[in-house]
Formats: sequence, C-alpha cells, structure tokens
Amino acid sequence: MNCFLTLDELKQYQPKRDTYFVFGDPIGHSLSPQLHHSYFSLAHLDGDYLAVRVSQPELQEAIDCVKGYAKGVNLTIPLKEAVIPILDEIDETAKAIGAVNTLTFAKGKVKGYNTDFYGIELALKAKGVDLTDAHILILGNGGAAKAFLAVSKKYTSHITVAGRNMEKVAAFCKGTGSTPALLSEVTGNFDVIFNATSMGMGAQISLSPLSVSQLQHARFLFDAIYNPVCTNFLTLGKMGDIDGVNGLPMLIYQGLKAQEIWGNPVDDSYADVIDSTLKSEFTNAKKNIVLIGYMGSGKTTIGKEISRQTGMPFYDMDELLEQLLGNKISDVFEQKGEAFFREKESELAKKIAHLHGCVISTGGGIIKNKENIPFLKENGTVFFLNPPYAEIEKRLMGDSTRPLLKNPKNLKQLYEERLSLYQAAADFIILKTDAKESAGEILEIFRA
Ligand code: NAP
Repeated sequence: MNCFLTLDELKQYQPKRDTYFVFGDPIGHSLSPQLHHSYFSLAHLDGDYLAVRVSQPELQEAIDCVKGYAKGVNLTIPLKEAVIPILDEIDETAKAIGAVNTLTFAKGKVKGYNTDFYGIELALKAKGVDLTDAHILILGNGGAAKAFLAVSKKYTSHITVAGRNMEKVAAFCKGTGSTPALLSEVTGNFDVIFNATSMGMGAQISLSPLSVSQLQHARFLFDAIYNPVCTNFLTLGKMGDIDGVNGLPMLIYQGLKAQEIWGNPVDDSYADVIDSTLKSEFTNAKKNIVLIGYMGSGKTTIGKEISRQTGMPFYDMDELLEQLLGNKISDVFEQKGEAFFREKESELAKKIAHLHGCVISTGGGIIKNKENIPFLKENGTVFFLNPPYAEIEKRLMGDSTRPLLKNPKNLKQLYEERLSLYQAAADFIILKTDAKESAGEILEIFRA
C-alpha cells in the first residue's frame, strides 16, 4: 500500500477505517507509517496511518481537510511550532515545551500534545542513562531541541545549548537557565550530548555537528536522527568508545504515547517488537536503488519519481558532493582537477554502502573507478539507465554546466568509452525513455 500522499491526493482521500496521519515536509524519510501499522497489527486494530507532505502555509488547509474524520495527526518538521496558533487547546507539557507533535479532534476541537518528551525520557531509561545532575550539551535550537531541553531541565541545571547562529541560540536559551554556545567553539566535558540538528540526515548525511575532539570526553551520545541508523556523529563517538543511541527508540516511544492519547491500548511489550520490525525493514529488507548512467540519462528525474512513489529518500551524489565541497562540480574540476573530484566521489561512495532503503543517483563518471562499484552494490541494486543515445544528445543540447561537455564533439566518444563500464557495473539495464515508465519498470524488478 502507498502510505505517502500529496496534499491534492489527501483532498480526494476516502477513509475506509480509523485513519491517522503524519504531516511534514520533507516526509519521504518518515518511518511513522511502518511504526503505526506495526502497532495496529500488535493491538489487533483496523487502522490506516498515512504520511502527507504538508508545508507550513498548507497546514491549516490540511488540518481542515481531515479534522472531520481523522482519529489523530502527528506533526514533524517544520510544523511543530507553526501549529500552535491554529490550536483550540494545548496540553500543559506541550505548552511548556513550545512545540506540538500530536493532534486530537474531539468534539470538533483541535488539541495539541507533545509526545517527543516521553519518547526521549523512555529512550534514555531503556539505555540506563540517568540525567540527574548531569552536564548536558544540546546541539540545535529547533523543535526537537526544545523537547531535549525540557527533559534535561527536569533532572539537572547544568545545560549548554549550541547552535550555528549565536543570536538564535541566545534567544532559545533566554529564561531557561541554560548557557548558549556556538557549535564551532563548544568544548568541555559533557556527560550526555543530544544532537537535535538535522546534520547527519538528508542532504547533510555526511556531516557531524561536532568534531571527534569536541565530543571525545562525553559519556553518552543521543542522536535524534534515525535514518541513517548510524550517523557520522554516532560513528565518531564509536571511534572513541562512547556509547550512544539513535532516534529510533525515541520515535517508537513517542508514537506509542500518541496512540495512548488517541485512546488506543498500549502494552509494555510493543516497543521491543516494533523496534525489531523497523530495524529488520531498515537493515535487511531495505536495499537501496542505485541509478547509474551517462549524463542526461534521467537519473535525477527517475530517482525523484521513484522516491515520490515509494517514500524512499532520494540522494543525488553530485548534489551531496557540491555541498560537501562547498563548490559547483564544474568549478571543482576547473580549480582542483578531475582526480581530486574522483577521490571525493569515491569517499562518498563508501558512505553510501551504509545507507538503507534510499534511491541514489550517481554521477556519470562513478564507474570510472572500479573500486566504487562494490560499495554501491553492498546494499544496493544497481540500475543502468540507457535510453537511446539520440535522446541523451537531445537532452544535453546547450547544457553548459557539465564540466566534460566543454567540447560537444567529445559527447558521443565519451559515451562509447563508458558504455561497457556501465554494463559491467549494472545489475539491470533500463532502456525506456519516459521517466514514469522507467520508474515503473525499476520498481517492478526491485520488488520482485
Ligand atoms: P528544526 O526545528 O528544523 O531544527 C533543526 C535544527 O538543526 C536547527 O537548530 C538548525 O539550526 C540546525 N541545523 C540544521 N542544519 C545545520 C547545520 N548545517 N549546521 C548547524 N546547525 C544546523 O528540526 P527539528 O524538528 O528540531 O528536528 C531536528 C532533528 O531531529 C531532525 O533530524 C529530525 O529528524 C530529528 N527528530 C527526530 C525525532 C525522533 O523521534 N527520533 C523527533 C523529532 C525530530 P538553525 O536554527 O541555525 O537553522
């Protein structure tokens, strides 16, 4: 079943059973549909839980659309604070935190709750971490940071909050008793460090909010991110033998608390069962779809279409590299040469081997270094997109942004040189021209 809807699809949606939603943007990475469907089967309930991409300006419309029939709604980035003015009522904990992630619609009134608070407390308890009088460092000053701050304040007064913008962090800390700091300057011995930034996921997958030297004295690391399961932040911690936990237990406990608020039964045994179901979906069954092919073969368009249809997160390696290098690829080629770029591309290919359940569009030259291929295949099925050459040529006509296209006469020669490398690296070859048809064929093969 497709658990991901657009707002237009939501407007047409006809509920068949008790229905719940999560709204947010981005939403493709969300594990909440799997989490709540696992819960429904454990609790023997006939329910549906759907993820809808809703931006801040669309929030009121989305709520109005479902409040007549939905049993409940969860909210994620960037809606947790934006929803507050729309509410008829707010629960005391959510009010104190200043962020809402769960809505109820009893008697036509929209009431907001915060279950992240419980998610964090229970995840810490499950790991045996006691915050009493601990020295805490919270990274980030957004919605999740507010929940980490509220939990920390319950146990200790030694709290530092670090972000990239001192003005924002100072405003965040004002009146809370916590100390503001800049991420790049933070030092000290902290018992527990919470990462509540989005550094480590999505387009920032290769980044860590702190360097190894900044976190080396910590006793415990808690990353709110759960996709990927092991972020750079946690990996750096592991290098220094620092114990840690990702955001999965927090997600599960906050989801179960939401079910309680919606009036559904929750048994103590559910969290462990859901944890192993989600982990196995993540790590075993969830392979990546890796798209290789010449420039203009449709890797980005088709990758995004697969992501739209499945909810699998989409990563464009060239885009990630531009962010990592802080420069356009054409400029990197010009200023540092192709060898430098290929080296960075190979470093990223190694990291991709650790991803699960993602759609990855690779750069056209990824196959030039044969050592990249095993990393792409380690957890991925590799599809070579090879539409007719005339179609590729048509698409690339007049594109001056590609570094290897400075001389268009080379286009065909380069294609012919690379063809056998693409074929050797591919698990499957897709010959179609139309993006939707290609995505359909890839998904049919992938799901078989
Ligand atoms: P948010 O309100 O958008 O806040 C994001 C924070 O990340 C902001 O403080 C932002 O700083 C900071 N940030 C982003 N990119 C940065 C960079 N390159 N350098 C430094 N700081 C950067 O989002 P949120 O709702 O708090 O969520 C934060 C993270 O927690 C996300 O990864 C989310 O998936 C995760 N989360 C997990 C759970 C769970 O159940 N496991 C629940 C909630 C959230 P600026 O303010 O300076 O932009």
